Amino acid sequence: MLKIGLTGGIGCGKSTVARFFAELNVPVVDADEIAHQLVEKGQPALLKIQQVLGEGILEADGSLNRKKLRDIIFSTPAAKKNLEAIVHPLVYQSIQAKLEQLNASYCIICIPLLFETGMSHIVDRILVVDCPVEVQIERVRVRDNLTVATIQSIIDSQVSRDFRTAKADDLINNTKTDARLAEQVKKLHNLYLSISDCQD
Ligand code: ATP
Repeated sequence: MLKIGLTGGIGCGKSTVARFFAELNVPVVDADEIAHQLVEKGQPALLKIQQVLGEGILEADGSLNRKKLRDIIFSTPAAKKNLEAIVHPLVYQSIQAKLEQLNASYCIICIPLLFETGMSHIVDRILVVDCPVEVQIERVRVRDNLTVATIQSIIDSQVSRDFRTAKADDLINNTKTDARLAEQVKKLHNLYLSISDCQD
């Protein structure tokens, strides 16, 4: 099965694009969703995080205090490394397990931090959803109600737009409101089907 790695900076439109592929009945594996599930209350990964970062990382009900975690990650590089060492291998394993269950010509694996986590080797082709930084900031500001400074610091923690687009095999331009995403996705869908046909 051909594996397409879908990536892009925060707010560029990965989830939006993934939905268009899903509408074409293409299986989508979402690394963010997996990471989220892994740290749900009672999960072994959450226990490990608690051991490394202390009780204070939990809410009173035993769930992860995500805001506190985000603050720690941005202020303490060592803690970020420890956290990544716990979560990334588990995300990787879970992606592999999900891939094994699929029966399709190709699939989309949405991995926001494809390069940052060193996971690009698990995909056959890289699809980048791209838009200018100003557009990213505005979309995330409206969606998540974060300050521009916070959004900028998240953008700065990710690989640059230039790096990402240089690594892309395929690119979706999602700059404009009318980005004709359905059309761009349909073209890529046909391309991926033809590539996967050749692989058979
Ligand atoms: P994250 O990295 O945070 O997971 P993402 O890359 O998955 O984000 P989306 O959630 O798909 O990005 O999009 C970010 C926001 O921008 C959403 O609120 C979405 O509805 C909006 N958006 C995406 N594409 C467009 C577009 N072409 N025109 C207008 N708004 C858009």
